[in-house]
Amino acid sequence: MKVAVFSTKIYDRQFFHAANYHEQHELVFFDNQLNQNTALMAVGFPAVCVFVNDQLDAKILAILAAQGTHLIALRCAGFNNVDLEAAAELGITVVRVPAYSPNSVAEYTIGLILTLNRKIHRAYNRVREGNFSLDGLLGFDLHGRTVGVVGTGKIGLIFAQIMQGFGCQMLGYDLYKSPVFEAIPKAKYVELPELLSSSDIISLHCPLTPKTYHLINEESIQQMKPGAMLINTSRGALIDTSALILALKSQHVGSLGLDVYEEEADLFFEDLSNKIIQDDVFERLLTFPNVIVTGHQAFFTEEALLQISKTTLSNISCIEQNYVCPNEIKVQEKMAFQ
Ligand code: NAD
Repeated sequence: MKVAVFSTKIYDRQFFHAANYHEQHELVFFDNQLNQNTALMAVGFPAVCVFVNDQLDAKILAILAAQGTHLIALRCAGFNNVDLEAAAELGITVVRVPAYSPNSVAEYTIGLILTLNRKIHRAYNRVREGNFSLDGLLGFDLHGRTVGVVGTGKIGLIFAQIMQGFGCQMLGYDLYKSPVFEAIPKAKYVELPELLSSSDIISLHCPLTPKTYHLINEESIQQMKPGAMLINTSRGALIDTSALILALKSQHVGSLGLDVYEEEADLFFEDLSNKIIQDDVFERLLTFPNVIVTGHQAFFTEEALLQISKTTLSNISCIEQNYVCPNEIKVQEKMAFQ
């Protein structure tokens, strides 16, 4: 099938070329993000392949449908950027890659926790400048600490299993209880307020839905244990960033690790080092010594990119051959979390 692949970088092209070795699909790569100005580039493409920050609201889907697109292949797990109801009405099928390497994100989350706790980011800079002072680098043992996992799906489960290995007590919160989580020694499900008030470290692994939008807000932050560490490798809009900045200033939140940011679409995946960043909220975050922000890279491992390209192409083949695609997203799937 002829596929317009948006928001591509060199690494996407490499992995997609490798997975398309039989040249079963005609892949045309665009650097551009899909939005209202670039949708015209997909004229004549029955399939459009997109990533996390491409825009697929009703307006853009209508343009795509009018141009002949009938398949949207997401090369990611989250689908919060797609208006599924509009796609269904327009006869556009939407497929995704529900699991590519939950280990990649879970392991990265632990990297953020260890870095923040033991101040490795600060130590790295100090030593390069010949400063071997330990002042300000004091951390705590993870062993014996309580860790809250919001969303115990594929990534949250692996994260909980690894943290249990450190000797942490795990608290989980999810709409659906997983027996795998309950089988982890010292792990139990609690309601969200208890998770917030009891955890030394809170890690977000639930999808972005109307219910989880700004799940971490002024009120829920107040429920958190003073000095707790908050980690978000899921989706930026789970957090009200302005409320969080106030809590960092008052030191109610002890440290923060973000791999995602609500307004990341204008920033992430691009080299803006010669530009003046206009987002003052984002820039304020970067001024805190106890905050680490990375640019949506938790998924970025060889295993994940290989799996993403293989599954995306097989999803497209499936639809092309009129088979039932197990990775098709139905409107009901979205509703289940609303
Ligand atoms: P998953 O679907 O396996 O698990 C999500 C879990 O969240 C499910 O158990 C679900 O029941 C739960 N959930 C849904 N709504 C909830 C709510 N209101 N409150 C509490 N729990 C709720 O998904 P996953 O593969 O574990 O991925 C989790 C999220 O990680 C994705 O939605 C995506 O946004 C994000 N992600 C980020 C990266 C990255 O590179 N930073 C990569 C992949 C995925």
